[in-house]
Amino acid sequence: DDARLAEELRKMDGSSYGRYKSLTGDWSFPDFTLTVDRVQSDPFAPPSRVSVRIPADIAELPDSAWHSPVRRRATADYLVRRAYRELKGARLRIDAGGQEVLDRAACQIRDGEVLLRLGIEMPGNGRRIDGRTAERELCERLPAMVDVLRWPALDAAEAAAFADTVEDTCALRDRLAGLGLVAFVADGSVLPRRSGVSDLPMQGSAVPFRSPESMRVTVSLPHAGEVGGLGIAEGITLIVGGGFHGKSTLLHALERGVYDHVPGDGRELVVSRADAVKIRAEEGRQVERTDIGAFVRNLPTGADTSDFSTENASGSTSQAANIAEALEAGSTALLIDEDTTATNLMIRDARMQRLVHGDREPLTPFVDLVRPLRRDHGVSTVLVMGGSGDYFDVADQVVMLDGYRPYDVTDRARELAAERADADFAAPAARVLDRRSVDATARGRSRIKRRDMDVLTFGENEIDVRNLAQLVDPGQIIGVGLAMRLLAEGGLLGDDRTLAEALDALEERLDGDGVTALGRGYAGDYVLPRRYEIAAALNRLRSLRVLR
Ligand code: ADP
Ligand code: MG
Repeated sequence: DDARLAEELRKMDGSSYGRYKSLTGDWSFPDFTLTVDRVQSDPFAPPSRVSVRIPADIAELPDSAWHSPVRRRATADYLVRRAYRELKGARLRIDAGGQEVLDRAACQIRDGEVLLRLGIEMPGNGRRIDGRTAERELCERLPAMVDVLRWPALDAAEAAAFADTVEDTCALRDRLAGLGLVAFVADGSVLPRRSGVSDLPMQGSAVPFRSPESMRVTVSLPHAGEVGGLGIAEGITLIVGGGFHGKSTLLHALERGVYDHVPGDGRELVVSRADAVKIRAEEGRQVERTDIGAFVRNLPTGADTSDFSTENASGSTSQAANIAEALEAGSTALLIDEDTTATNLMIRDARMQRLVHGDREPLTPFVDLVRPLRRDHGVSTVLVMGGSGDYFDVADQVVMLDGYRPYDVTDRARELAAERADADFAAPAARVLDRRSVDATARGRSRIKRRDMDVLTFGENEIDVRNLAQLVDPGQIIGVGLAMRLLAEGGLLGDDRTLAEALDALEERLDGDGVTALGRGYAGDYVLPRRYEIAAALNRLRSLRVLR
């Protein structure tokens, strides 16, 4: 059959490009089945899509490579990276991802069977088929790629070590709650990155992480054994220190700690609670009927802030909405960096209170809410704040970074703390979204696309996702769009379901099938997103309507 494909491609050589469409369907090779899923209509259209199925008895992956969901995801990720390397210079493309190990449609393992999804730019000379090149890609490069993914070329020890690393990361993250921690940073971790545009570890000059003894926690992991590091306890953690001493770098690592990292990344054992959400100000975003009453009252416009909408939020109201929406989606850990906050939502010092008081100031600063948030709602906060000592009054622990090394300065900060009266924090109202307002169709067809890491095109809408710090992979943006479509078309949103309940139902729907349950009919790469990013994108959908 593979000979038949080669012959077919040779016959097509020189004929009009549209004839490629006749390749659609299955082609069996000695070691795998190739399925041509979708053929581009011209050389300039998005790449064609093919999939490759390697049966279990040919892949010969050891059971240990896929017997648990974590190892299955890790091994699939290992294979996709291996395939990517093998395809360097080819027209075949596989979506291998960056430093995070995510559940991606590009490679899935089911009962030992390996399913790969690839793109290919079908070669042409102008509008004529270049059959020779197509033959080389599909009948030579593709089988060569499959060869490296299986015994004996597959480096089984390296694949196992990759899965061990991911298994340790997940075990560590699972352990956090039992230890009363929101995050953990192992000694020896390398947090800084090579540059603002490279997520690779900084080389050479990086100062490895070393926890202060008083905050050191030791954890026993399945493969790495005993590991010591900074345990960031539940409650309110303040990260202080001079400018340029590594505060934001630590917080960034915690943001990414909701994901697993590849061996050699430096953050393999930097983990946060899976529900940790980065909060920032986001001037200009729209807000649709979000309850920000805890933060904002008595606006000069007279607007009802417990049911607040705007097309153009201010720094402070946008940050208030971001917090309220993260809580609504179920987060119990907030990560905040002074570099990206609205100062007037964070602090108000005594002098300003004397000048502008009572009804003149609609904002209740976060410093007055952070303790009730913890006490009454079980939500922890990790906050970087080098510019004000106001949070000394409310912090449970204070970490100072000095020359990239953390020190426990909790006692010293406590001596400097003052009494502070808390405000009340009423849980934001849970909304029920109108599923008809979440529509993926444009001109009668489903349209889910992305522009870089900035915009998700969803039906007729463009959603600005630039400020979602925990969207880390382009494929996740598509994944978010597909999840929104499933929430709406699958009937999960609306009726009497709150947004959080709808997200629960979605997670249940994905359980077992993983990311591919999202992509029915979608020809392209996508990656499993978190519920918090799905909720965040919904909240930024301009057509969104709230039923109640
Ligand atoms: P801050 O938020 O305290 O002002 P940053 O976290 O932005 O500081 O870090 C300042 C610079 O120091 C960045 O260029 C960062 O890459 C670098 N850096 C951070 N941590 C380390 C480290 N452990 N070793 C070496 N350089 C680091
Ligand atoms: Mg900073």
